[in-house]
Amino acid sequence: MDNKKLAELLFPTIDKTPEDYEKIFPERGLPEGAMVTRLGPSPTGFMHLGNLYGAFVDERLAHQSGGTFFLRIEDTDDKRYVEGAVELIINSLDFFGIRFDEGASVTGDIGDYGPYTQSERAAIYQCFAKKLVSEGKAYPCFLTEEEIGQIREKQEAAKEMPGIYGEYAACRNWTYEQVEEAVKAGVPYVIRLKSDGVCTQNAGEEGETEGRRIRVYDAIRGILDMPENFMDTVILKRTGIPTYHFAHVVDDHLMRTTHVVRGAEWLPSLPIHVELFEKLGWELPVFCHTAQLMKIDEETGMKRKLSKRKDPELSLTYYRDQGYHPAAVREYLLTILNSNYEEWRLANPDLPVDEFKFTTEKMSNSGALFDLDKLNDVSKDALLRVPAAELYDFLKKWAAEFAPEYSFMFDDKDYMLKILDLGRNDQKPRKDFVYARQIVQFISYFFDETFKIEDEIPAEVPAEDVGKILAAYLDTYDHSDDNSQWFDKIRTIATDLGYAAKPKDFKKHPEDYKGHVGHVSTVIRIALMGRAQSPDVWTIQQIMGEEMTRRRISGYMN
Ligand code: GLU
Repeated sequence: MDNKKLAELLFPTIDKTPEDYEKIFPERGLPEGAMVTRLGPSPTGFMHLGNLYGAFVDERLAHQSGGTFFLRIEDTDDKRYVEGAVELIINSLDFFGIRFDEGASVTGDIGDYGPYTQSERAAIYQCFAKKLVSEGKAYPCFLTEEEIGQIREKQEAAKEMPGIYGEYAACRNWTYEQVEEAVKAGVPYVIRLKSDGVCTQNAGEEGETEGRRIRVYDAIRGILDMPENFMDTVILKRTGIPTYHFAHVVDDHLMRTTHVVRGAEWLPSLPIHVELFEKLGWELPVFCHTAQLMKIDEETGMKRKLSKRKDPELSLTYYRDQGYHPAAVREYLLTILNSNYEEWRLANPDLPVDEFKFTTEKMSNSGALFDLDKLNDVSKDALLRVPAAELYDFLKKWAAEFAPEYSFMFDDKDYMLKILDLGRNDQKPRKDFVYARQIVQFISYFFDETFKIEDEIPAEVPAEDVGKILAAYLDTYDHSDDNSQWFDKIRTIATDLGYAAKPKDFKKHPEDYKGHVGHVSTVIRIALMGRAQSPDVWTIQQIMGEEMTRRRISGYMN
């Protein structure tokens, strides 16, 4: 067979050569050790936590090493292209502080290694498919869906590996004339890799032989030892559009990617990619197969993969909608990405997160456990590092976009700043804030629009005492009292009405008192804030002001 002639027959319009592309996309000339990484999402209009998780690894590796991180839109599968998907990808990652240096953007491509959208690269893929055909390393396959189905049935019946390989690769040895006739007749065909691998798994128990294996370095998993590929995998579909396998190999070579960070679901096809890199004569990039994101199922208590249907937290919009601060999410992702991160954070509570040296070696290669409760804990600490003014801007923006019914809270900025800083600068700061939707609830008592009575008067206080406590409180209230003067007055009210001035007195002699000063102040708390628990009451009153304080107390009495 004259393979060159075959290649011309199949790809008559491809006039560029592989050497042309090597020149158009030369080595990047970055300093030693600089990493080039990419994110390759499909434009499906859904951004999930896995995308962010991978993007975070890419971003850190590239930017820590002075390299380049680019965005490639992988739209070769038949999944529907959703309008505005590129914008969604870029914006949702940008929110979490993840920025691309190069690649697809809302205003078009940025950089010299494009086009960065796979559907615009058809001529490039075909050029390299042509090269493989011309060297006898790939061939056209005319098998119909029906024929492939029959082959599969036969293989299933004989308990053999399903697929097109070896004797099942019916078009492997077609003559030029056969191909020419079919092409001229318009019979549709795909291009398959002509694998050098040998299937040894069908030999039966007796004759079963160990097949050849490949060894590939993975920066997260170490040396991988896997069976070689032996499938004549499709590299170009009937439409001339590549499969993921071929697009990945061609793109990551020509875009000079040094580190391929992708999910563990791609591990089983790694041998195909290795064979393709070899057949094209190219060096392998460093693979980094990240662990699957798992969670503990609430019902079964077992680890399982996050699911789009069951777990709203899989979608990145969930975090925007709930109003998680990006710093908190970044911080949390690091705790699941690098096993030594938490230790570093404990030793460096105030350093910016990007000072942490992220490494692939410290990444887990079994499932990475995602846990919303843990995120919430991390968020409480992370928010303490966000100054009130910044938190104000963040919450205001969040409310405008996701909860306009709370926008009124931001009208009086000075008031809001005091509320946000309440108890946050103490020796042992309060950790009341988790995410925006929770924060606006937490501080709702500061506003008449959202104030409501949520808790009940303590059982120790009889109904007829409530009015007496509040009346005495109003009578003696002086807004200029300091914290201790104010509390002395509450003690006096308590003892006058038969409550112990100190909780421990009540504990010792419960028969002598109705309750203690804490129960009395809870009554005041409930009148003021509608809640039995809250930060320091005196401080809250100072923020609310005298008028609101008096109005709340008398409001509860009526
Ligand atoms: N388009 C692929 C995906 O969304 C990208 C995998 C890769 O990064 O190579 O899973």
